[in-house]
Formats: sequence, C-alpha cells, structure tokens
Amino acid sequence: MKLYNTLTKKIEDFNPLNPPFVTYYTCGPTVYDYTHIGHMRTFTNNDLLKRTLTFLGYKVKHVMNITDVGHLTGDDDTGVDKLEKGAKKTGKTVWDLAKFYTEFFFKTTDALNILRPDIIAKATDHIPEMVQLIKKLQEKDFIYETKEAVYFNTAKFKDYGKLSGQKLTDKKIKARADVYLDPEKKNATDFALWFKRVGRFAAHTMHWNSPWGDGFPGWHIECSAMSMKYLGETIDIHAGGVDHIAVHHENEIAQSEGATGKPFVRFWFHNNFLTIAGQKMSKSLGNFFTIEDLNKHRIEPLALRYLFLQSHYRQVLNFTWDSAKAAEEGYNKLKAYVRTLQKQTQRTTLSAEKLKKLEDLRQRFIAAISNDLQTTDAVAITWELVKSSIPSGDKLDLLFEFDQVLGLKLNEVREEKIPEEIAILKKQRDEARKQKNFKKSDEIRKEIETKGFVLDDTETETVIKKA
Ligand code: AMP
Ligand code: ZN
Repeated sequence: MKLYNTLTKKIEDFNPLNPPFVTYYTCGPTVYDYTHIGHMRTFTNNDLLKRTLTFLGYKVKHVMNITDVGHLTGDDDTGVDKLEKGAKKTGKTVWDLAKFYTEFFFKTTDALNILRPDIIAKATDHIPEMVQLIKKLQEKDFIYETKEAVYFNTAKFKDYGKLSGQKLTDKKIKARADVYLDPEKKNATDFALWFKRVGRFAAHTMHWNSPWGDGFPGWHIECSAMSMKYLGETIDIHAGGVDHIAVHHENEIAQSEGATGKPFVRFWFHNNFLTIAGQKMSKSLGNFFTIEDLNKHRIEPLALRYLFLQSHYRQVLNFTWDSAKAAEEGYNKLKAYVRTLQKQTQRTTLSAEKLKKLEDLRQRFIAAISNDLQTTDAVAITWELVKSSIPSGDKLDLLFEFDQVLGLKLNEVREEKIPEEIAILKKQRDEARKQKNFKKSDEIRKEIETKGFVLDDTETETVIKKA
C-alpha cells in the first residue's frame, strides 16, 4: 500500500514493522462537548485506513485515547482545562461530563459504522504510566520544574520541529494580555508534562499525587504513555487531524523519542478539515452540526459517510446541506440498486469476458484504495460495477466485498416492512406518476408523509421508508 507520510512529506510504500501486524494509534476526542460532523470526517477517514489495511490482509491492532483531563483551551499551555470549563458551564461534575460526551461520541461513531478500536484508553486511567514516562525524561535531563509546572525542555531535543518543519525560533507565542504565560518557562515551545495544583489551577477538581506535587498531566504526555503501553515504543501508524501536527504530535515525538531514544512513529497520517463557509467546523467557533442536526434534516448518518468518501482525506471538504442532500440521494440510489439486485440474484456461469471484467473491477478498486486511499475513485469503480452487465449474484458478492472498505452497510439493505395502507397509497402514486398526473402524485406523497413515511424517487424505482 502507498501512504502519504507527514514526517517525510512523501507518498511511501507502507510496510509494517512486524507483518502481518500493524500497530495503529488514533488521537481520540476531548470529551467536554458534543462530537460534531467535523470530528466525524477525521474518524471516518481513520476508519477507512484501518478497513483498507484489514482488507489487504494486515492484522491491525488499534488503540484510541479518550482525553478527559489536561487538554487546555490553548494548545500552547494557555487557558483552562476544557473539561473543567465544560463542567462549570453545565453544572455537571467533570466525571459525569466526560461520561456523557464519551457516550455521545460512540453513539455518533456507531451511527457512521466506524469500527470501535481494540483498546479505548481513558487518560484518567493512565496517570501512573504518565508519571513513569515523565520520570524517565527527568533521568535523561529533558525536563525542568517551575513553581507552576513541569516542562519538557524543547531546546534539549535536537529534532524538535521535524514533523511540522518549523524551527524552534519560528514558534514564538504572541504576548497577549488575555493569555497567561508562566514567567519561568524557558522556551516558547516548551510544554507542560505536569501542571501543579497552584495559581490558576488551585481549584482544579481532577488531581493526583506525583513526585512533583499534587496536580494533573498535560495533554500530550497521555498519547505517548498510552501508545507505548499498548503498542510498544515504535508504532507503525499514528493518526489525527492536521491541527495536531504543529503542537500535539510534535510534542508527542519529542517526549517519546527523548525517553526511549527510538523512533516513535513510522507513518504519520493526518486528515484535513471539514469546513463550513470556508472555516474549520469547531466547537470553539460554535459553527458545528451533530448527528442530531442530520436527523432534523432527515439525512441518515451513513449518507454523511458516503459524502466523506467522495473527497480525498488530505483535501479540505466544505460542508453544505445541499451537498449532504446530494450524498443522501446518491446513497439511496445505491441502496435501491442493491434491493433490485437482491430480488434478482440469479447465478449463472460467468462468461470469460464477464469474469475478466469482474476481476478488472476488483483489481482497480484495490489499486485505488491502496493508492493513499483514493476513495473518490473507489466510489466511481463501485458505480461502474453496479451498472455493469455482470450477473446480479456475482455483482452483489463483489459489491459486499468493496463494502468491507466503504462501510456503507450495503449487506444490511432490506426491503422495509410497509403497512398495507401505505403500500396501497404508494401504488396509487406510482400509477399517478405513470400518467404524469403530478398534482395527484404530490397529494398522495403528502398524505404518505403525514402517516410517518417518506418517499425517494430514484432512477429505477420509488423507495419508501419510515421518516
Ligand atoms: P478534539 O476533540 O478537538 O481533540 O478533536 C478530535 C479529532 O477531531 C482531532 O483529530 C481533530 O483534529 C479532529 N477534528 C476536529 N475538528 C475537525 C474538523 N472540522 N474537520 C476534521 N477533523 C476535525
Ligand atoms: Zn493525541
């Protein structure tokens, strides 16, 4: 497989360290607010990579963290802990808040048919591992302590900046009146490994004992500690959003490689943003939609997955309700074809010509996904298959094979059970449409809708489903 590696800024041949096993870590959510569809683009593409590797015969071990402490509102150690802020806003405890939003996160990923990781690691369950790692860095003289925190000294790590390509001096934090900076911090790029429960954090609710006093860990150390605990000191792939390159992942590299002296990650996989009106969809800008908003617009979550498949993960994708609606129509059309094929499914012996066409489509599909996840091509090849003259039984088999990567639940497409009364109305409407009596067909559509069903007119048939 060919995969773009942010570290080398090149598309490279991907080969795991210990084939057929692939060690895969994805940065998970910070559970202080609702998961939105912007996050889902990143998690869907992470899932596509995992499904592709599995499809190609690798055995993937996937670990994802849940950040429930230490992630400040400013990635550069400024601001307040996102969870403490969320708890204050909602009146919940930090623990209840984390539980509530973790559940919402998985409700969303399940709805998008994103496979659950093998190990889900909560930051608050791994404080001893983080303390151990900081101790190791202390032994190697990478850290210093101030009255407020324990910092990683980035000037001591000669490769600092190798992921983002920025030099230490480029990353100056602008002095702003509203931003608090520790006066004892030595370099602007130094980052906190441990915050002490003093000063601005004196009332921090989550806190643990450590050799550097009562306090809580920084955000970056959690991913290094948990990745190493479950996957080893050098892993094959580490994934996240492009916003993590410059600070979070740069810092993960510094502290991990500082501690072990070994390469931390072989391939860095970064997803580009889902934007809205050209701006990153984000919790802090408040310009986000959740799966509940999709429900309100009567767009099913898997239609969003279909939308994501139609852009490359390294490109920005701008979200509009029109594009979501178009994706829903495309997805419904695909499902309508599956329903039609299921009704036919005759098995004939394939002619040499059709067998060749089938194999050609399979090989082109594999080539597309193995080429740095060219999902747009993979979807186009899927449509080519659907419209080909290959007999329906064989066509369905290959379609379901493709769907192991696409994850559109095509093998769960069924004719919905429709009450007799609605079925009669639909028949009457089909008749009215045939006679081009659109006024009558519209009236019947409205009547069907008031009874809790919706109609979707595709090229081949009218699909009816529960609203
Ligand atoms: P957070 O909970 O903010 O740490 O984000 C979890 C993951 O979602 C990270 O990998 C982010 O990079 C990613 N993410 C956040 N917003 C977006 C967006 N608008 N588009 C794509 N990925 C995003
Ligand atoms: Zn992370």
